[in-house]
Amino acid sequence: MNIRVPVLLALAAVLLSSAGAGAQMAGMPGMDTDGPTIVRAARMFDAEAGRIVEGAVLVVQNGHIMAVNPATLPDSDHDIDLGDVTLLPGFIDAHTHLGGEIGPTSFTAPVTETVADATLHAVKNGATTIRAGFTTVRDFGGEATVALSKAVERGDVLAPRIIPSRNALGITGGHCDATGWAAGVLELGPKEGVADGPWEVVQAVRYQIKHGAKVIKTCATAGVLSMEGPVGAQQYSYEELKAMVDEAARHGVKVAAHAHGSEGILAAVRAGVASIEHGSVLTDEIMDLMKERGTYLVPTTFLVDVIPLDVLPPLVRSKAEQVLPVARRSVERAIAAGVPIAFGTDAAVFPHGLNAGEFEVYVRLGMSPAEALRTATVHAADLLGTEDRGALKAGMLADIIAVPGNPVDDISVTKDVRFVMLGGRVVKHVEGGMDMHRMGPG
Ligand SMILES: [Zn+2]
Repeated sequence: MNIRVPVLLALAAVLLSSAGAGAQMAGMPGMDTDGPTIVRAARMFDAEAGRIVEGAVLVVQNGHIMAVNPATLPDSDHDIDLGDVTLLPGFIDAHTHLGGEIGPTSFTAPVTETVADATLHAVKNGATTIRAGFTTVRDFGGEATVALSKAVERGDVLAPRIIPSRNALGITGGHCDATGWAAGVLELGPKEGVADGPWEVVQAVRYQIKHGAKVIKTCATAGVLSMEGPVGAQQYSYEELKAMVDEAARHGVKVAAHAHGSEGILAAVRAGVASIEHGSVLTDEIMDLMKERGTYLVPTTFLVDVIPLDVLPPLVRSKAEQVLPVARRSVERAIAAGVPIAFGTDAAVFPHGLNAGEFEVYVRLGMSPAEALRTATVHAADLLGTEDRGALKAGMLADIIAVPGNPVDDISVTKDVRFVMLGGRVVKHVEGGMDMHRMGPG
């Protein structure tokens, strides 16, 4: 999905200080807790090994995991026994758009909503997403989620940690442009992400990074949820994509390429992007090259089951009906072929918070439940370049969740997250059907 916020109408940043500013954000980055917290559970998921470990005792302090199943425990006033649940690293969704959600008004949002509106949507959707167990997202959402990412790191707002792209890069009239408007309305340039030719692309990359992008998102091909032509057509040339990847790499930043058709996917993989988003028409040649280069596929396939077709304009609906079944088959083939896969949903194309539905589809398409859990932990952390999360071990951020029972026996329990800790702070704790929603450790 491409959600374009109206840059021409940019307002001063909204103040987000009301959401929890008074509470002590124990365990958030840069803040000390008074003592260690112990978290106990019947079992935990070892994401690196891809297996369940019976019995889990985690020691958390200063926002990090200090020890896992240690021989001796430190004294603690905060001892949480979660019982018959499985602890997992907080899930990572590598493809969200927190600043909006599909609906009857989403296609006119570019001329009816401001950056401030998008930011407030992102605050609400971020809260929903973290309560679903997703403690990190890579978000393709313009200025709104750059601002939200900073507010989360300050501990001001409860939302997942965010790797933001700022404005996505695309060709004039392409999927990442604002299309469907009269000439003169919403004409965008490199600062807004619309750039043609290698040098403009380089300028656009530099500008996004200057203003907070931690990943570059691009539209290598046309797309579904926009008013331009055939869904799979290549939009950026190999030369433009190569210039983008090379410039981003000079800043230590990776590129994520939205791509449906095979020519555009192949050009993006050859240019060195870190991930292909959607990847609707995969060929054997593409899959071999992705395996060879370690290029991740971010499938966004749960949306096929839940996209609300009736709210789509006729052109968009017909594109969706054409490409989505093809895309689903490509994911199945990619799983069978062993293409690297990182969990990503395109949340916004369906209601935020339903992200875990993606796990069930991977399993239905042939992936083992343990491997499905790895896509949203170790694999997504590798794609995002965030080495401080994605596994429950000493030194990692204390981003910890719990699901009832055993997710390797029944992957659907990932939709029923009972406990969420972000940086050592308990932000959700359902006990006996009641959410304790404690704001501090213990
Ligand atoms: Zn998207």
